[in-house]
Amino acid sequence: MNLEEMVTTALGGQSITRAQALEILRADDADTLPIVAAAGRVRRHFFGRGVRLNYLVSLKSGMCPENCSYCSQALGSDADILRYTWLSDAEVHQAVELGVSHGASTVCLVASGRGPSQRELAKVAGIVARIHAEHPSLHICTCLGFLDDDKAAQLAAAGSDRYNHNLNTAEEHYSDICSTHSYSDRVATVETAKRAGISACSGLIAGMGETEEELVDVAFALRELDAESIPVNFLLPFEGTPLHAHQELSPQRCLRILSMMRLVHPDREIRSAAGREYHIRTLQPLVLEVCNSVFLGDYLTSEGQSGHDDLSMIEDMGFFVETSDEQGDICFGQGRHERARQAVDAELASLDTGRGSHRLDEGGIPIRLRGAGTASVPNV
Ligand code: SF4
Repeated sequence: MNLEEMVTTALGGQSITRAQALEILRADDADTLPIVAAAGRVRRHFFGRGVRLNYLVSLKSGMCPENCSYCSQALGSDADILRYTWLSDAEVHQAVELGVSHGASTVCLVASGRGPSQRELAKVAGIVARIHAEHPSLHICTCLGFLDDDKAAQLAAAGSDRYNHNLNTAEEHYSDICSTHSYSDRVATVETAKRAGISACSGLIAGMGETEEELVDVAFALRELDAESIPVNFLLPFEGTPLHAHQELSPQRCLRILSMMRLVHPDREIRSAAGREYHIRTLQPLVLEVCNSVFLGDYLTSEGQSGHDDLSMIEDMGFFVETSDEQGDICFGQGRHERARQAVDAELASLDTGRGSHRLDEGGIPIRLRGAGTASVPNV
């Protein structure tokens, strides 16, 4: 494996070859750290030591009519997750303010379902417009399922500058994980968002029984789609979902998958998304060496490590939080950020709801029981 050649290619903004991507995936665990170091050189070249924090707000949870087998919110899922219809405007406002106060430069507004009705779209567009007016430099990513041109245009007009719609897996593997829609349906929605002038956020989920070739296929398909932001999820095998028995990932394998993604997409935002804590475990800090983006706090239906620990990990690794603030980058633990934290903590204390304690499902996944859709204090 010629890592030096791969780094040279990637530093020029080009992708490594498919054969090289496969070599990385198939490398021994003992070679993982040199691979991470190589991907780290590329990450530092394009993004320095900055980390973008994304904050998820689950507007509507569960009860989706689609049957994506990896998803705890899908039709037929018996996962014991929070299920609720739309958050109130006040709940959305509170969640967004907490995320922003803790350094998030992107808020991700997510609603379960096949796609929004016109009424739902208008509701989300109103939320986006309000957030955009209050935080003009904040990135607003929406994730609402399938879109047509008209709905994409409405979101763009409201101020959604990014749309998330993951390819999830390779075209060859798609029918194994979902039968209520196709891979091409997903590609079409990413293209629709782009036609409306919205930046494409699209990624994958590893650990769903795909082959290594299929992982490379989806990595290169995302390059063809010109995705600007690429979330890399590691399957959370929720009890009550068809994929609950899938345990294919190790911390080292996850790090090689992330490194492969960095070397295929040298100058794109690579985000370590759901499954980071569950699969990468004590090696989590190494994620920052490869990825320039993570989620702060909890995920849609599972809990992440505490937002405080996310920020400490960034600081301890010598990275810093990139903010959307025109005043420039700020570091956790210093001045403004610390004051923001104190203000938010005071606000949380006034809520006096007590911290929700998560529940582990049988596979050890911490089910989200706090934040959006609950009376419990969110994880920031
Ligand atoms: S469409 Fe989205 S919310 Fe619905 S089952 Fe699939 S991944 Fe889950």
